[in-house]
Amino acid sequence: MQIDIARRQLLTGAIALGIGASIGRVQAAQPESTAASLELAALPWDAAALAPVISAETISFHYGKHHKGYLDNLVKLIAGTALEGQPLDAIVKAAAGKPEQVAIFNNAAQVWNHDFYWNSLSPKGGGAPGAALRERIEAAFGSVAELRTAFLAASAAQFGSGWVWLAQERSGGKLAVLKTGNADTPLTSATHVPLAVLDVWEHAYYIDYRNRRADYAAAVFDKLLDWGFVERNLG
Ligand code: MN
Repeated sequence: MQIDIARRQLLTGAIALGIGASIGRVQAAQPESTAASLELAALPWDAAALAPVISAETISFHYGKHHKGYLDNLVKLIAGTALEGQPLDAIVKAAAGKPEQVAIFNNAAQVWNHDFYWNSLSPKGGGAPGAALRERIEAAFGSVAELRTAFLAASAAQFGSGWVWLAQERSGGKLAVLKTGNADTPLTSATHVPLAVLDVWEHAYYIDYRNRRADYAAAVFDKLLDWGFVERNLG
């Protein structure tokens, strides 16, 4: 599936390292630790490239502190467990819905969601989607403008921390706007495949927009949303 290809591209760093560790382990026939199997995926652009919509200072904290913090927590939480050495998406799916693994799920899903968020943004983003994607949007929402309205409404309606997603129904492929709270992610959804995401945790916008989440959401939708990433995730 295309979404799986996109996930692999998105998580290349972590998965490549995981595969490398596995191969190394097989070749060396040693049961040594695989603690280094997850690493912080590189940003797809320079930290200053999204300014002025998202400043380099925000990226510095958001990626360098928040995102990295989730990864560091995850590495500690899975050390010595059966999840150590597994790819990130497998860890998210394995821990989902298990009360005893809620901390692992929260940190793993936050790492995955942030990887997906960075890849949903581009300094060349915004503007109009391509014709094929526009037709899909029109079929589901009526128009790109109505998708924008629905996306911004979901951003405003998400109470507290969370994420707003452009997604696709697994059955039938109809596009949809979803919102999830805290670390929840459609990666584990039986009904939807994620296509792009907006982080609406306060840490995503507070430096640049203070409390004005709506202004942040509108600016990202209009100027940074990477329609090419959406298209590559479409099934
Ligand atoms: Mn975030």
